[in-house]
Amino acid sequence: MESLPFLQLSQGHLQILETCPRKFQSIFLDNLTLPQPSLASEKQELGKQFHQLMQQQALGLEIQPLLDDSPKLQGWFQHFQDSPPLLMTGEFRQSEYQCTLPLEGFTLTAVFDLLIQSGDRAQIVDWKTYRRPLRTQAIQQHWQTRLYLFMAAEVLGYATDRISMMYWFAESTPEDSKPAQNWLSIPYSESMHQQTRETLEKLLVSLRSWMQDFTTKHQSFPQVALSAQKCWSKTQCCPFVTHCHRTPDSATDLEDLTNLGVIAEVSLD
Ligand code: SF4
Repeated sequence: MESLPFLQLSQGHLQILETCPRKFQSIFLDNLTLPQPSLASEKQELGKQFHQLMQQQALGLEIQPLLDDSPKLQGWFQHFQDSPPLLMTGEFRQSEYQCTLPLEGFTLTAVFDLLIQSGDRAQIVDWKTYRRPLRTQAIQQHWQTRLYLFMAAEVLGYATDRISMMYWFAESTPEDSKPAQNWLSIPYSESMHQQTRETLEKLLVSLRSWMQDFTTKHQSFPQVALSAQKCWSKTQCCPFVTHCHRTPDSATDLEDLTNLGVIAEVSLD
């Protein structure tokens, strides 16, 4: 394992690895990451500032200078004050809580935006600076949810039925759309924990094997099956379709792909 170049894995790595091993190789081993559109960079910067704001607020530090600098942050913080998530009361609250867990020769890493602990219970809180996605199941199945709950049980030692994860979404949901709540609380259970463990172990064993073949035999990671519709479909398009020779065949398909901006996507990065 010493010769393998990639040992620390976050939820973002796992999400991409599970989506498509070749995509994982392209981004993290071949460094083929595409340039970010400037709008995306601005959003990321605002997201970082909001997390800093919430951290300072949790610590009882001054936040007014941050609010004064940005009407967007003011709006999100006002929304937080008007529609706060249902947070546990707890004697231990820590922002940006970091933890690690060794598994199958890798180190899993997580940073909880806020961790609240009270007696035998724990709540992980995550701030999102967009509108709550409609597809609850996609949020439950996202690796951020699965890994964070798994690590809270493994690293902090809580019983699985005493842990939950709370997502809070900073952008308001329109009055006429469901769900109305701008937060989502996901409970945990022993069966979810065992399922995550099995999936994780399988994924990591595969990753080790792909990385060994990549480093010793220059063999590429496998591509996802076309039938999985992860390369491109009417609702999504992988940025590596050209690199992978997986571009759509017909003009109609290409036209569909140019309209991706109108389709809501679950983003838990
Ligand atoms: S185009 Fe398809 S095979 Fe290639 S990285 Fe993207 S999802 Fe994977």
